[in-house]
This record gives sequence, C-alpha cells and structure tokens, in this order.
Amino acid sequence: MIDLRSDTLTLPTEEMLSSIQATPLGDEGRQDENGRGEDPTTRELEDLASALTGKESALLFSSGTLANHTAIMTHCKRGDRIAVDENMHIYRSEKAAFMDHFGGMKPVFYQYENGLSLDLNSLDHLIDNMQLGLICMENTHNFLGGICIPPETMAKVYQRAMANNIPVHLDGARLFNACTQLKVQAKELCQYTDSLMFCISKGLGAPIGSLLCGSKEFIDRAREVKKLLGGNMRQSGIIAAPGIIALKSNIHRLQEDHKAAKQILQGIQDTKRIKVEPDSVQTNIIIIDIQDTGLTGHEFSKAIAKKGLLMNAIDDETVRMVTYNKTTQEDAVEAIRIFNSFVDELTK
Ligand SMILES: *Cc1c(COP(=O)(O)O)cnc(C)c1O
Repeated sequence: MIDLRSDTLTLPTEEMLSSIQATPLGDEGRQDENGRGEDPTTRELEDLASALTGKESALLFSSGTLANHTAIMTHCKRGDRIAVDENMHIYRSEKAAFMDHFGGMKPVFYQYENGLSLDLNSLDHLIDNMQLGLICMENTHNFLGGICIPPETMAKVYQRAMANNIPVHLDGARLFNACTQLKVQAKELCQYTDSLMFCISKGLGAPIGSLLCGSKEFIDRAREVKKLLGGNMRQSGIIAAPGIIALKSNIHRLQEDHKAAKQILQGIQDTKRIKVEPDSVQTNIIIIDIQDTGLTGHEFSKAIAKKGLLMNAIDDETVRMVTYNKTTQEDAVEAIRIFNSFVDELTK
C-alpha cells in the first residue's frame, strides 16, 4: 500500500522517541518570572523557532489550527474584517474564526491569478475600500497545490499593510517547504509578516506541534488567548523534544519530497482524462482534476485505494497526493503505475 494522503503521516523516529525519555520537563502552562512557560524543553524548541524565523518570541501549540486561531483572536476582535483568499486553510478548513457563534470575524476576499499567484490589485482594492483588521497569507498554499509566495510578493503585501496600519499573519504550516523551493532562509520570508505559524507535524516529521512566532508583545498576549482556548499543555516537552530534532535535522531533506512530487507529476501529466497544472507542483503536493473520469473525488480515492494507492479527495472535482519522508523513489514509480492503470481501466 502506498499512502500519499498527507505529510501528517510521518512517524516519529527511534531518536525522537528516545529523546522524550531523556528530556527535562516542567509545567508549560505555568509562567516563570520572564513570562515563559516552565517546561524547559518547550522553551528550547520555542527559542529555536524564534531564531529560525527571526522573530522575538515563539509559542508551542498542539496544532496549527489552534495556533492560527490564537493568532487571529490576538490580532482581531469580533466583527473585524480579515483579508483571506477563498481557498485559504483558515477560511476553508478551520472556519471557526469566521463562524458567527465562534470568532465572529468577517472574511473579505482577495484573489489568486490563475490559481498560481497572489493578485496584489485585488488586495489593494480591499485595503482601499474596507477597514481591514488583518491580512492573511498562506505559504505554501495547501489547497492551491503547495504553491509558494515569493519573498518579493510578500514584501509588497507587507509594505501595503504597514502603510495602512494593518497587521499581517502568515499561515506557514509548510513554511520550510516554501523556503526550500524558493531557496531562501525562513527569516527572509518571515520579515514580511507580523506573526506566523508553522507545523512541525507535517513534512518535518515530528509527531505533534505547531509554533506561533511574533514580537514578544504579541506572543505575550497570544499566551493569554491560548490559555483561554484550552491550549495549555503542561509537560509539553514530550512533544517539544521530537520537535527540536525535526527542526535540527529534517529541514534539509524536504527537497527529497519535492523531487518525489515532481517525479509523480511527470509520470501522470500526460494521462488522458485527468488534468494537473504542472506549474502548481512546486513542493510536495500534487492536485489532480479528475472530473473527466466521471467519478467524484471521493469515489475516485475510494476506488484507487483498492488498487493499493491512497490519496485524499479534496472536493467533487479534485484529489490530492502528498509526498513525505516515507515516499521512496520506488513508491513514486509504483504510484504512477497504479494511477495510470487505474485511469486507463476507467476510460475503457
Ligand atoms: C495542516 C494545515 C493547518 C493546520 O494544522 P493542524 O496541525 O492540522 O491543525 C493550517 N494551515 C495549513 C495550510 C495546513 O496545511
């Protein structure tokens, strides 16, 4: 069975598991005299995250969703308008910030040109015509196929935001995939946002965790919101220890995942009745339009699973394959073979 449903399927290594037993622990939800949590391993991971992103402070969360929501609720209040695009994870998948009975914030939408590049004109239009409480970006962009926002575009967004006194939040769940593809340090991208979240639980291979990074003042306030949302974790060194290993050892290997995704793209892009936008396969995600096969995304993924290839349905029209540290070159070859013979059978 080849499992390309998600890069959250990475499993902790032996080294990660033994790091848990050896690491010093404390109560993360209890603050020391500097306002930091008492768990020393969590503090070490947070310091590493700050250093990598060039931000003053960082805060560990159990999930990216909780970190994003804490960020939004720290920046904004009920009724504030937040600039997102309609395919953004925080809007399309997480949602709670925008629900009337939860966050009560109002989404307003900027566009992506051809599903590939952030349209600055549409953002300018929002800035000029709406009072915005926050601008969000997503890099890499999950539902658009793991595409990257280059530093120049992020700089332009940030410059517009600053000129209008609007804070910026980056959903960087796969920040290091973006850095790998764009050949820049995380700091270079993160200088163009006030706050950002990245996941250690995806391609980086840690079992659990996401980090929210920003100024000390912002993170101090976010710590209060985190607590209110039930985000305090106590001996979170248990998840921070593998996270430290993930950040120290696994950033450099993300390029392997990108190579495997390109390999799969090349093997399936000429297959009849399916469509992949080659320019969208920039990192470790391949989104495939399967409408012309006559199956819905869900039917397609269910049926191909029986042939030994697991992938996720995104909606009625599309399915998604994601590469990660278990995806060998042989797996990529086999995934291509299963995929093409399955689609061939369908169209006979
Ligand atoms: C996975 C993901 C999240 C949420 O992370 P969880 O840890 O699954 O809650 C947020 N944004 C993007 C772009 C993601 O891919």
